[in-house]
Amino acid sequence: MIFLRVAIPSPLRRYFDYLPPDHAEIGTYQPGTRVKVPFGRRELVGLLLEVVTETDVPLNKLKPVIEILDSSPLQPQYIRDLALWAADYYQHPIGDALLQSLPVFLRKGGEGVASHTYLWKVMPDTSAANLSDKAHQQQALYQLIAEHPQGISKEAIRAEGGQAYLLTTLENKNLIIKFKQTHSLPEAEHLIKEAPLPLHPEQQSALQQITQQQGFNTFLLDGITGSGKTEVYLQAIHEVLKKGLQALILVPEIGLTPQTLQRFKSRFRVPVVALHSSLTDKQRFDAWMQAAQGEAPIVIGTRSAIFTPLKSPGIIIIDEEHDSSFKQQEGFRYSARDLAVVRAHAEQVPIVLGSATPSLESLHNCAQQRYQHLTIRSRAGNASAPEFQLMDIKRLPLNNGLSSELITQIQQHLQQGTQVLVFINRRGFAPSLICHDCGALAECKRCDARMTLHQQPAHLHCHHCDSQRPIPVRCDQCGSHALKPVGAGTERTEQTLNKLFPDTPILRVDRDSTARKGSMAKIMDQVHNGSPCILVGTQMLAKGHHFPKVTLVAILDADSGLFSTDFRGMERTAQMIIQVAGRAGRADHPGKVILQTHHAEHPLLNLLATKGYEVFAQEELKLRQQYQLPPYQHIAIIRAEAPHSGRAEGFLHSIKEQQSAFFSQIHWSGPFPSPMEKRAGVFRSQLILSSQSRPLLQHSLSHLCLGIEDHPLASRIRWSIDVDPYDM
Ligand code: ADP
Ligand code: ZN
Ligand code: ZN
Repeated sequence: MIFLRVAIPSPLRRYFDYLPPDHAEIGTYQPGTRVKVPFGRRELVGLLLEVVTETDVPLNKLKPVIEILDSSPLQPQYIRDLALWAADYYQHPIGDALLQSLPVFLRKGGEGVASHTYLWKVMPDTSAANLSDKAHQQQALYQLIAEHPQGISKEAIRAEGGQAYLLTTLENKNLIIKFKQTHSLPEAEHLIKEAPLPLHPEQQSALQQITQQQGFNTFLLDGITGSGKTEVYLQAIHEVLKKGLQALILVPEIGLTPQTLQRFKSRFRVPVVALHSSLTDKQRFDAWMQAAQGEAPIVIGTRSAIFTPLKSPGIIIIDEEHDSSFKQQEGFRYSARDLAVVRAHAEQVPIVLGSATPSLESLHNCAQQRYQHLTIRSRAGNASAPEFQLMDIKRLPLNNGLSSELITQIQQHLQQGTQVLVFINRRGFAPSLICHDCGALAECKRCDARMTLHQQPAHLHCHHCDSQRPIPVRCDQCGSHALKPVGAGTERTEQTLNKLFPDTPILRVDRDSTARKGSMAKIMDQVHNGSPCILVGTQMLAKGHHFPKVTLVAILDADSGLFSTDFRGMERTAQMIIQVAGRAGRADHPGKVILQTHHAEHPLLNLLATKGYEVFAQEELKLRQQYQLPPYQHIAIIRAEAPHSGRAEGFLHSIKEQQSAFFSQIHWSGPFPSPMEKRAGVFRSQLILSSQSRPLLQHSLSHLCLGIEDHPLASRIRWSIDVDPYDM
């Protein structure tokens, strides 16, 4: 007797056994195919993992599989192995991890067949003369098709004014033939559309190291912004394409970086498949299939694209490897960057992690000789690196956050005909609304947080739970009308700059101003036309853009992350400052970066401003070692949340009491309330586990998970484990 062992998207950390479908023959079951199974009262799509001859489930409890959905597995074994590895490492339920490695379309049970584009071409030895003189439209259509010996699609026929409805008529007359489009790659010498740039020596050396060795190798391409990392990627990819292999590139956010995508498209004469969020499930699946079948030589995507199979993998590139978006923050909490290294190892291909501000983990991995450190310290072309100024604003009068010296400098840059970027990482008008009579702040009712005041349109908005309400006329506490905005967000800064520089366009870039489709592109067009303007925006401006005419970058508040409770606060602040700064001084304009701060004497901030990121990072690493924090220590967080205060914490206490004696070699700390204890109406608490030994922590966690699952409260409290957490 045989049983089918199936992975199911369920929170349970186990597999489920089923009987073969009724009336099915033996020997037709292939691991990796999708199956439809009964599960409770529902029907779910699962993945067949194994055919086994024994099961722990009593026979009368077993149900048959309803249907086998695929005739052969759609996903190669190594992607399933990657998902299994991730489930184990990140302590995520196995079935859910496996199913998440498939495109949504397949998870929902969609048919595993890619749609094809059909093309038409004329039959050999025919001509328009085969048609009657009177059939003008048929003749015109025939001529149009004849002009495309490689074939032409229906869409293209319509676009060229052809009468596509006559296709069947011509087909029936055997004058044209319909066929499926296949993407055969151009010959090696025709891969390039646009000539590569001659590399400068540091780029050349990086490229050589990446391309000269065979097999797996992890490279950290550590190059300042504008140093030509993307050019190195492009040329490394070219080498890969010449061998008939494929490249997988992960980027933080495709929507924000259309320029990067465009550079790939204009360099190569091969299809570049972008897996972005505006695709439908079906379109994403089609793109996934093109990658899996080797028809897409270049695949670019965000975090989840790490599970996209490639038929002939040649290289993996992670651009902006320090970016937090590579770590999924809920559900299946994997790091796509770290998985990419595991994947590259399994595929025996090189992997390049690129950044101007590498994560401390990656720098540490270089120091440990696990990664090869490739550095580019000079800017490409004749661009020079920007000059930093720490502007001490202690006791200075500020005009809505702008010091008068800063205003003067902005003026000077505009007068010399260049552009200015003002960075403030808070959207909205003001971060809080205060009662001038009693001091009460407008707070979110569902979070331990203040509501942000927005003016466009006017409302109060909680940026943590998304609650919104009208701006109150009177104070909740004392009834006073004296409600005043405190502090500045992007809207207020925009307004202030508008008053100060009435003749200069002020372009605001934040989540609100770019919510409408195409609005970002419009703003970018205006910036790229080159005339003086002031860009005001959040970290959306810090990602991937090139603003060649920006010569001054002003960071209004460099202090917000300096004293964070999160050990990564300083690293993140430094990365953000350097990334924003990197937008200035490209092309031939030397750039200047002004950091307004109340802590001009802060040692690490000074180090960053005077010596740069690399020196800063070494210093910060020393502190991490001194305090035994990652990367010198491995961390996992057990988080719990409940709608009543104290309940989540009580649950974690009880877990600790029950379990810590069994796992005494790892370090337990907490439970503590999470940094924002109440959020979106629930109270959150966390327990931190750490160890210098990764295997020990791993091993403990997998046992601990089972212990927690058995806890009587586990099914009533939302809890999760986050391994290598990004946010504390
Ligand atoms: P990064 O990815 O490190 O920010 P890019 O590859 O985008 O840098 O390069 C920044 C600018 O310099 C781009 O406009 C690019 O075309 C140009 N550039 C890159 N490499 C060279 C080179 N070797 N010679 C001249 N210009 C270059
Ligand atoms: Zn009041
Ligand atoms: Zn809230």
